[in-house]
Amino acid sequence: MDFDFFMPVKIYSGKGAVAKNSDVFSKYGKVCGIVTGHSSAAKSGALDDLLAALKKQGISCIIYDRITENPLIESCHEAGKLFRENGVDFIVGIGGGSPLDASKAIAIYAANEELEPIDIYLRKYSDKPLDVLLIGTTSGTGSEVTGVSVLTNGSTGRKKSISGADCYAKAIFADSTYTCSMPYDVTVSTALDAFSHAVEGYYSSKYADMPKLFAEKAIPLLWECLKKLESEKTLPDESVREKLYYGSLYAGMVLNQCGTLFPHPLGYVLTENYSIPHGKACAAFMDELIAIGQKYSAEKTEHLMRLLDTTESELYKVVESLTSLPKISMTDEQISDFCSRWDSIIPGNFQNTPNGFKKSDAERIFKKKFGAN
Ligand code: NAP
Ligand code: FE
Repeated sequence: MDFDFFMPVKIYSGKGAVAKNSDVFSKYGKVCGIVTGHSSAAKSGALDDLLAALKKQGISCIIYDRITENPLIESCHEAGKLFRENGVDFIVGIGGGSPLDASKAIAIYAANEELEPIDIYLRKYSDKPLDVLLIGTTSGTGSEVTGVSVLTNGSTGRKKSISGADCYAKAIFADSTYTCSMPYDVTVSTALDAFSHAVEGYYSSKYADMPKLFAEKAIPLLWECLKKLESEKTLPDESVREKLYYGSLYAGMVLNQCGTLFPHPLGYVLTENYSIPHGKACAAFMDELIAIGQKYSAEKTEHLMRLLDTTESELYKVVESLTSLPKISMTDEQISDFCSRWDSIIPGNFQNTPNGFKKSDAERIFKKKFGAN
């Protein structure tokens, strides 16, 4: 029953969390660098609330609003330079996983002028990153509570994460009302991501009593919302939004302790090459994960079905319908090229999968699901 647990993020939650806690910002300095995507920060209402809170505290700000989905190291580097040159003391990221993950990287670049974009993966630098505060607008990644930042190398187009104690936010403002402006499709994809984090964590070899507390809370909560999204095919009401958002944070706590399994790196291939949004890309492998779970961890799978109060076929049906992948066709050459990244490196996601997971398993699954011949 022994466990190690590290979750250093202060969480301010509930409606109006930014306005109610505006004094928190003043602890971090006088100049704030705000990081956003194209328009979700404004659409969600979070940007206006933040600007009002900063004004109230006499904090000036500069905004970098060029973070794209699957954030590029090159953009993060550019924002880091901008913030450094403008004397930014701390960073507030607003958005889905992309701007939130980008904020963590920007904090590192801003404090370390000598870093070239690619150097961030070496994880070697001399100065402590700037402090980061986060405001989520999607209910998926759980990036608010994880020490993980998933970045894309613009010159190769490949996604790769960095993680560690220096990748945690200092505080987050968790207000699910900011997720209400998400369109149906983004809501579905991010919900599938959160559900994948909880289920992958559940099957991880790192699963233990502490993440179990969060997983057993997240899994039924998210499943109830997924079923509703699938059957009603319409935007959820505020109470479902709240469940999805807190569910995504609980699932983030699971990810933090257990990591993710093979669906995540395989999902990256679908995102990089076929522009499938992250959550749907990972959920595309849920059936294969459960099949592996059934083979090597039958008791756990039985317990999972009890938690969900469903059957495997019902689970596959709902997840597949929500994932709704377009037709993807991969030649043997493409599959072998996609999988070459695992020639010499076996990622933790593979090692933590029940009975281990190999490059040959990835090839087999791609062929089975998407093989052109
Ligand atoms: P996202 O890429 O941040 O955003 C997806 C789309 O949704 C964007 O067009 C965004 O618009 C829009 N959007 C976001 N919030 C909205 C709102 N409230 N109203 C209207 N539109 C909104 O989506 P995400 O799924 O949250 O993040 C995915 C990224 O996180 C991937 O790179 C993934 O690899 C990573 N990830 C990280 C972790 C972690 O632990 N750190 C875990 C899993 C995944 P804008 O462009 O205007 O913002
Ligand atoms: Fe994810």
